[in-house]
Amino acid sequence: MLYKNVIKKLIDKILDNDINEAPFTIISLENNLSKELEINLKGEPLKVKLLGRLDRIEEKDGVLRIIDYKTGQLKKPKQQAKETMEEHMDRIFEDIDYKEHFQQLFYAFVYLDSGDDKDLVIGVYPIRDLSSGIYWFEEEPIVKEKTLLFENKLKGLLEKIFDSATPFTQTDEIERCKYCDYKSICYRD
Ligand code: SF4
Repeated sequence: MLYKNVIKKLIDKILDNDINEAPFTIISLENNLSKELEINLKGEPLKVKLLGRLDRIEEKDGVLRIIDYKTGQLKKPKQQAKETMEEHMDRIFEDIDYKEHFQQLFYAFVYLDSGDDKDLVIGVYPIRDLSSGIYWFEEEPIVKEKTLLFENKLKGLLEKIFDSATPFTQTDEIERCKYCDYKSICYRD
């Protein structure tokens, strides 16, 4: 009963927000997408399959909006005033406070390959703070330059992961371990 009531309240709040955002068109919900990305492993090409489950894709005023529902705490770091696009992208890949931003850019990257060349924005619905509405990571639609930058950084990261000469080591940033799927086999104490 308790769960049912909590879920009902959350749905009511989301619908209230949606009424404020209307008109818009839902394109898909819980959509599983995949894409192959070719990386270079010491001169040998390797195709890596990327998967993403996109909670919600909608279109408003000709702009595609990729939105995720977030149940956990959401930090809202923005690009700093003096930061270049490259420096900001480095931060998105390295700083755990930007993990939701990374995830949404990843979804946008997987989605953009589906042949749609519309303007696209990324955001999340923070379930713990629904009254503040959708949080958008970027003020403007994502530009091609940013997608290319993301692709290059992602390739670099995958090449490092697949490189057998680069060992996996436990992170020094304990915060990362909190929700790690591998903590039961990692034996971190
Ligand atoms: S629990 Fe282990 S594998 Fe997971 S983030 Fe921490 S150190 Fe890495």
